[in-house]
Amino acid sequence: MTPEPHRVSVLLPHQLGLLTYTASEPLAPGLVVAVPLGRRDVLGVVWDDAPDETIEAARLKPVRGVVSLVALTDDLRRFVDFVARYTMTPRGAVLKMVLRSGEGLTEAKPQTALALTGVEPERWTPARLAVADALAPGPMSRKELADTSGASAAVITGLIKSGVIAEIALEPEPPATPTLDAVPNLTADQGEAVAELGAMVEARAFETVLLEGVTGSGKTEVFFEAIAAALALGRQALVLMPEIALTPMVTARLTERFGIVPGEWHSDRTPAARHSLWRDVASGRERVVVGARSALFLPFTDLGVIIVDEEHDQSFKQEDGVIYNARDMAIVRAQQAGIPVVLASATPSVESRINAERGRYRRIVLPARYGDVPLPTIRAVDLRRDAPPKGEWLSEPVRAAVSETLARGEQSLLFLNRRGYAPLTVCRRCGHRFHCPNCAASLVDHRLRNRLVCHHCGHEERRPSVCPACQGEDTLAPCGPGVERVEEEARALWPKARTAVLSSDLAGGPKALAALLGRVARGEVDIIVGTQLVAKGYTFPNLQFVAVVDADLGLENGDPRAAERTFQLLTQVTGRAGRVHAGGRALLQTHAPDHPVIQAMLRDDAEAFYREETEVRRQGALPPFQRLAAVIVSATDRAEAHGHAAALARTAPSSGDVEVLGPAEAPLSILRGRFRYRLLVRAPRTVPLQDIMADWLATVPVKGTVRRAVDIDPQSFL
Ligand code: ADP
Ligand code: ZN
Repeated sequence: MTPEPHRVSVLLPHQLGLLTYTASEPLAPGLVVAVPLGRRDVLGVVWDDAPDETIEAARLKPVRGVVSLVALTDDLRRFVDFVARYTMTPRGAVLKMVLRSGEGLTEAKPQTALALTGVEPERWTPARLAVADALAPGPMSRKELADTSGASAAVITGLIKSGVIAEIALEPEPPATPTLDAVPNLTADQGEAVAELGAMVEARAFETVLLEGVTGSGKTEVFFEAIAAALALGRQALVLMPEIALTPMVTARLTERFGIVPGEWHSDRTPAARHSLWRDVASGRERVVVGARSALFLPFTDLGVIIVDEEHDQSFKQEDGVIYNARDMAIVRAQQAGIPVVLASATPSVESRINAERGRYRRIVLPARYGDVPLPTIRAVDLRRDAPPKGEWLSEPVRAAVSETLARGEQSLLFLNRRGYAPLTVCRRCGHRFHCPNCAASLVDHRLRNRLVCHHCGHEERRPSVCPACQGEDTLAPCGPGVERVEEEARALWPKARTAVLSSDLAGGPKALAALLGRVARGEVDIIVGTQLVAKGYTFPNLQFVAVVDADLGLENGDPRAAERTFQLLTQVTGRAGRVHAGGRALLQTHAPDHPVIQAMLRDDAEAFYREETEVRRQGALPPFQRLAAVIVSATDRAEAHGHAAALARTAPSSGDVEVLGPAEAPLSILRGRFRYRLLVRAPRTVPLQDIMADWLATVPVKGTVRRAVDIDPQSFL
């Protein structure tokens, strides 16, 4: 009798999740295996859940094989389990993020090269001699050999056939060793911070640190030393960045500090680059990774520290697929791995500040800018008194300041967080407004491309010259400003100045952006007109004046984090002025100079802002005092969407202190042709929110065209 085969649980990166297979020998949890699914073979990971013993053995299929001997670590598997439970998504969907480059797990093709074998050819020709000369110092690739020797492909092939040269396998290059001793001369505050972080990394224990300090205080220098401490222990380090655009800068600085090029992980990298990085992370060869939020799911073998730079940034929240906040999940990953995690920011999220005050996080503060360059002086321009001319956006005080800055040969930044030319186009004669056919949103005029664009679904149409409703000619008028329109005004006001728009829809992608940023940094642009893209990270040495065209934008949109976001954005963007040279200044154009956020800016009193905002959160039972979760119901039919949402409201949990608000029509009431309703759940931190929600949601089955998304800890309320 053949022995009973072993049953194994395999988690598939797939909605199906966990399936039971058989194997001829026990397989350790974490191994990546190929298994049959329908007619295909797919990758899966052996999980440690008990296999299903109720299925007849004859109906089980065998594992095809182990794909790689590198196993996902225990802490990574626990992390997948946690993220799935926390975000209320199937485990398979989370595993999919881990295996996104799972092909990388299969062994890399060995690198080969051509080398001389010692066999003599029948006769030496000049071309053959050239090949032998080229290979005399050592093996090289076929292409290199052709280039160096000038020999034709036929000559090289002929020499291989006659055994004069042969393909040999090359040993993989040993991983580069980081230089750890190039420690900068730290200031006293920086030194203390570094000592504290270093001790935490060496302690190999979980802890969350909030590293707070104004822009230019040396937070980056300080967290680099935490990375150095991890590298000194032979461990790996991960730096999470909110924007791909910021990674090259950090990569360059890391390379300079440690003498090794860190691995870069984000969606702009080629699949091949991602596969090899995945493999190198799994084997421990790659020591430092800089990446976007999905880097959190890389299979590190021995992670020593995680850094979350610009921790307050909204971009850490992934809003589709698995809806998760990489900042928060970084803390979970660190906890599972038993290592410290550093959240760095000049303008921490209110949540992190409160968590630090309540002792959940350790707070480390760098109080001053490095080199003591003072922070810019900030003043308000009261638009109720100093209104720009009709149809223009720059007030007299801003114009005067730009002119002075130009006269001194310095740079100005006109900041407006709105892409395109105008947010709305209307017909002056019949009042027709251009709306997206798929969304409840107006189309944004992008003049540079001559398109009207929906910023929600990407719908585009040509900008017509005639009103489609009344056929009026020359009746279409832009309403409100975008960066392109402000640049137009700047060009008219200062025709001799060199202007540039810096926003994410710059034609030419990341390369063009990097080139433009280079020009700005070298002082080849006098007036920058930019969106929030310029608020972050970059240092423009010659930038001395910043004007915020509309400081009120975003304050009144009903989002519980509106004040916080505006405060962060204004602090970051004004902080671009005078980063290298003293004398930076900023003007905020506002209709509400008495608003607490504007007042905190003018008085340079961040603490007042955090105090006030903490009180607002406490009284409103908002995060982090209580927890929020959103349920977004959508359907192609309004009544269907509303019906489902209303049914959920009727079965809402009434127990405990869980409160369900809504349904309310979502502010973005139609998106991609789907009608949307929202329910908001509020609960104390002590209740098992996900369990309660799972029971509740199960009471109303999803039918027809209804789709339901659960957003735990929502950041966006659209
Ligand atoms: P932050 O991350 O807080 O904005 P950075 O670490 O980028 O600050 O530091 C701002 C600038 O000051 C950088 O150019 C950095 O190289 C420089 N700097 C900071 N601390 C030091 C130091 N101790 N020695 C030399 N340069 C420093
Ligand atoms: Zn749209």
